[in-house]
Amino acid sequence: MADTALMDKLVSLAKRRGFVFQSSEIYGGVGSVWDYGPLGVELKNNLKERWWRSMVHERDDIEGIDAAILMHSEVWEASGHVSGFTDPLVDCKTCKNRFRSDDARIKGEPGQPDAQCPVCGNKGTLTEPRMFNLMFKTFMGPVEDDASVVYLRPETAQGIYVNYLNVMQAARQKIPFGIAQIGKAFRNEITPGNFTFRTREFEQMEMQFFVKPGDDDRWFDEWRELRMQWHKDLGITPEKLRFHQHAADELAHYAKDGFDIEYQFPFGWQEFEGIHNRTDYDLSRHQECSGKKLGYVDTVNNERYVPYIVETSLGADRLALVAMVDAYREEEISGDKRVVMAFSPQISRINVGVLPLVKEDGMPEFARRIYDDVRLQYPAFYDAGGAIGRRYRRQDEVGTPYGVTVDGQTLDDNTVTVRDRDTLEQDRVGVDQLLAYLAERLGE
Ligand SMILES: [Zn+2]
Repeated sequence: MADTALMDKLVSLAKRRGFVFQSSEIYGGVGSVWDYGPLGVELKNNLKERWWRSMVHERDDIEGIDAAILMHSEVWEASGHVSGFTDPLVDCKTCKNRFRSDDARIKGEPGQPDAQCPVCGNKGTLTEPRMFNLMFKTFMGPVEDDASVVYLRPETAQGIYVNYLNVMQAARQKIPFGIAQIGKAFRNEITPGNFTFRTREFEQMEMQFFVKPGDDDRWFDEWRELRMQWHKDLGITPEKLRFHQHAADELAHYAKDGFDIEYQFPFGWQEFEGIHNRTDYDLSRHQECSGKKLGYVDTVNNERYVPYIVETSLGADRLALVAMVDAYREEEISGDKRVVMAFSPQISRINVGVLPLVKEDGMPEFARRIYDDVRLQYPAFYDAGGAIGRRYRRQDEVGTPYGVTVDGQTLDDNTVTVRDRDTLEQDRVGVDQLLAYLAERLGE
């Protein structure tokens, strides 16, 4: 069951607290494009940084790159995107809306007199389905003609394939090895939606692992398990994660096997990462179209082959949405309602909020000194504005795990209260013990 009310509340919190804003909002917004606010960009950077560390820094067999968004247009002919990356679409001649031809809201056969437009309700106004390419197209240089067409990349993977020899030689890698990349990609989706789940501009975190043919099944299994474990280690609720294996008719024509990692969103189980065995399709196609040899020479075993590729492809925006949805809680405590973003400390932008109870008796100055100590160790936030209850609520909504409050007693005995976001328990802690107390809960 789709829980649209829950998504509406999350969208509203995301705006209120500065996670996600609609793009160009003062002009009425632009369809399915979103901007990350102060907390959202930190959340997304945090997730990207963890991914990069686990892929590139903690392994010897993966290198990173950052390829350009604009590529030679023949790349997209070789990859099959120019001819095959299309959806059948129909237009309404009256209201000018455009739909996928398999849109469930359309009654009747598009192109026929009895077919009804789902928006304006007119009959016989829908065109026959036409194929529509999902790539954004523009022109490079001063002349707008066919020879100067370039595309905004619809996936980051091709920037890795065309660089695979460069990277292998420069980094002195041998098969098996991988190349990782984080970057923007663009698809002119016709039915985008569900907040930041399906957007026209999005960020991918992809890793392409090059292996010897015959070793691909083993590596595929390994990457599938590693990726699932990574999400669990991030603190995502394990019961809301599952694999979905692609059936024969879901697989891309070149793919040998594919698994999605799905999350149980309020709008249903949906994919946010894919692990695919792409075989030697990509490198063979580039070899054919570019005329450059892209085979691998194994000098030890005296073999030559075109490597197989096992891909792990994760949506950065989708992962950020998973993190937000998974953290969202509504609770009622002794009659009071509250909303909590129960981020694990490793994801949360702020780990410790420091608050003076009131703005008098030297409490702000005292709190400020504690804040200056704590922030050297943990991401912290100082908040003196407004009633203490409102400030706690605010910290709950941004997901701060611990709140340190300076009150009247602090000035007498040098202790503060530490409030636990999840249990709401309050401990009285000596100021000189505070960092040790936090270290026990948040790590050094
Ligand atoms: Zn219409």
